[in-house]
This record gives sequence, C-alpha cells and structure tokens, in this order.
Amino acid sequence: MVTPCEVSPACKYCSLSSSIPAVQDERAELTQPALARAARYAVDQGIRSLVLVGGTAPEGSDLPVRKAVRTVKQVAEVELALDVGPSISAGTVEWLKQEGVRTIYCSIETVNPGVFGRAKPGDDLEGRIRFSTMLERHGMTLGNVVMNGLGSTDDLLRSVLYLRRFRRLGYLHLSTFHPVRGTPWAQRRPASVRASVTGLAIARLAFPGVHLSLAEVEVEDPGSAARVASQLRAGGGNTFAAVLVYRGRTVNHVERVRQEAAALGFMAS
Ligand code: SF4
Repeated sequence: MVTPCEVSPACKYCSLSSSIPAVQDERAELTQPALARAARYAVDQGIRSLVLVGGTAPEGSDLPVRKAVRTVKQVAEVELALDVGPSISAGTVEWLKQEGVRTIYCSIETVNPGVFGRAKPGDDLEGRIRFSTMLERHGMTLGNVVMNGLGSTDDLLRSVLYLRRFRRLGYLHLSTFHPVRGTPWAQRRPASVRASVTGLAIARLAFPGVHLSLAEVEVEDPGSAARVASQLRAGGGNTFAAVLVYRGRTVNHVERVRQEAAALGFMAS
C-alpha cells in the first residue's frame, strides 16, 4: 500500500479488519525507500506498468499520492496507474495527468447498496460512483474491481454490467472473496473461482476492448495470482499482475505467466 486506509470500520473481508497484527500488517503502508526498491525490482523483472495501490482516505490523500508518484518516477521509467479509492481531488487528478498517469482505479466492488453496506460499513458507494464520474470528466481511463462473494452471483453480474455506463472504462478485475484470519468474515465460505471466471467471460462479451482479469490480491486470496490459464480461456488475461509487493512479502509470477500463456498459444510481453 502506498497510502494508509482510513475507512472505519475497515471492510469486513479486508486484512486491515483482522484482529491479528501480523495479518493486518500485510496491508501496511510501504515506506518511501521500500516503495522505490519495489518499483525498481518490478521493472527489473520486465514489468512495464505499475499500479500504486493504497487505502481510502475520505479526508484526502493528495500529498501522499504525489509523494509516491515522485518516488517511483525517480527510480523507474514505467507506465503508472493509481488505485487509492475516491481519495484525491480534481487538482491532483490534473497533476497526475501532467505526470503521465492515465489510469485511475476506483473499485465499486458491488452496486447493490445493501450488500455494499454489509461488507463495507465504513465506505461510501455513492462517493465511489461520483469520483468515477469525475475521473471521466477529466479524461482519465477508469479501472475498477468487482468482488465475487459479497452478495449473490446475480449481484456480481449486475455489478459488472453496471460499469457499461462508464465510457472510459479501460481495466476491470474480478476478485474472489477468500476468508482472512481474524477478520469479521473469517468464518464465511470462500466464493467460487468458477463463478468469477464465468463473470469474466460475460464481461468479455460486454466489454470487448477492456483489459480484463481476475484481481490478484494474494494477501487475501492466496493463489489468486496464479490463475493464468483459466483467465485466458475465459477471454480475460490481457493484463496480469505478475509481481505483487507487500510490506515484508513479494510475489513474483512472471515466469509462470509467461509459461502458461505460451502453453495456450499466447505471447506474454
Ligand atoms: S477500503 Fe480497501 S484497504 Fe480500506 S478497509 Fe476497505 S478493502 Fe481494506
């Protein structure tokens, strides 16, 4: 994470809501030197595009976001995207454009207000939709994440199709709920990866030109970064997060992505 999350209470599925400090710490903020090392490491692995992921700060994350972008640009020549929820002002959106950042994520997770409120009692669905609309007005490419397992499969598909209203949607990732130790939802059943892949296939029909994939959230869903073949078969996987850097943990799937893609006749570059 490049910025802390101030959503309170934390979302029920998120490591930040865990009562176990070691689990919570997996989503802790990276220091600037650690961020610089992480960016350098990813680029050295052949990664050409980085998403800087941080928490949601209703009071705003303009300064820490600008600092993180400067830190990465000092050490790595790489395409940058940002994912800190609806935490930045229109002024910082314009600043990011000048810095060459073209894609900003704001995950809605689900458009069912009841489901959203139960999973994310400290968060604001309408705020996320308003922010996404503002990003479109400023000519940004939108990224989004929809989560399977918060509500029903119908909710999942409705949430995916809801995004058709955003003409500048460029990236859509489907995450799959997996219970995390110590969180309020630690006892909940994991969601079906098969349903996520079905959602991906439907999203491919609805969004022929969008980058689609299953979301890689290794700390909450171990193994998520390795579902390469199933994504490609469903029509997704035109973008993968092959390197994930958390505080104290780095996941590198570059070779695996290359090999599995090659086995299906794709070329990973
Ligand atoms: S907004 Fe994101 S980082 Fe913050 S608690 Fe919710 S899922 Fe975790």
